Amino acid sequence: MNVASFSRDEAAVTLNVAEAFLARLHGVRRNGSGWMALCPAHEDRHPSLSIHVHKGKILLRCFAGCSIAAICAATGIGMRDLFSDHSSPNEPLAIYSYVDEVGALLFQVLRYPGKKFKQRRPYGPGGWIWNLGAVRRVLYRLPEVAKAKSVLIVEGEKDCDTATAMNLVATCNPHGAGKWRTEYSESLRGKHVAIIADADEPGRRHARDVAASLFGIAASLKALELSDAKDLSEWAATGGTRERLLDLIDQATDWKPSATQPSTAEGMGGMRFWMRSRNSSGASSLFLNPNRRSRLPGSHIRTPWALRIPRHT
Ligand SMILES: [Zn+2]
Repeated sequence: MNVASFSRDEAAVTLNVAEAFLARLHGVRRNGSGWMALCPAHEDRHPSLSIHVHKGKILLRCFAGCSIAAICAATGIGMRDLFSDHSSPNEPLAIYSYVDEVGALLFQVLRYPGKKFKQRRPYGPGGWIWNLGAVRRVLYRLPEVAKAKSVLIVEGEKDCDTATAMNLVATCNPHGAGKWRTEYSESLRGKHVAIIADADEPGRRHARDVAASLFGIAASLKALELSDAKDLSEWAATGGTRERLLDLIDQATDWKPSATQPSTAEGMGGMRFWMRSRNSSGASSLFLNPNRRSRLPGSHIRTPWALRIPRHT
């Protein structure tokens, strides 16, 4: 992608916007320096929408002739979202609301250009206090998490929204890597959990911390890292699909603390645990709609990147 001609921040913002846009499309695949996808504005069978990022703008062209306005309307984004030039440092790119079990607002995380974040909590009618104080900290999308049997854990709200677009229930803790709290694990008690680690050291460490906190609390527990992408949003934006993700989760072995998982001689205790959690494996129930599942034949081949996280600690 040719983004060398403008600043890193601008490039990062544009790529974030591009990823968010691509995540809303279907049939996305790389094409030279950009992407092709099914055009959402017409009945498209063969990808005819071309997407490029150029000088801080997302350039769209439907070869069937759909207007930019029609494409934006069909994807649910505003025309101005295509131009990251317009995002001022004082204007949030996204506002993420954290709510309690019944949907009452507890606090918000605001995302600004340059991966900067601010937090605020409601105060009186229409007012805000710009810190979290002693407000109850909860997982993102708590009501959905509470109802779900299987939950994906990712590192940030943007990835949660990407997962939601893939029809999966996902959550994260506020404040990012290294900020998991023991009480968050209680919200996941008895659920099937798959952790998608960001592909960097803080991300892997965070995934390990979260897994360790959930061990014995979650009904089953997996942790994996996606290949050739720093996180779920980038992976989805470059062609990763829901079906592929669920296959990868299926293929990953159950996470165990390394101390109880000798890599050479597996003890009977470990084996029993493995069998039990395989039998109750909830990877398939990650689907909100199990009928939409398509299984690759012979998909039990272990992928090289799957489940490296706990092994090397
Ligand atoms: Zn079109």
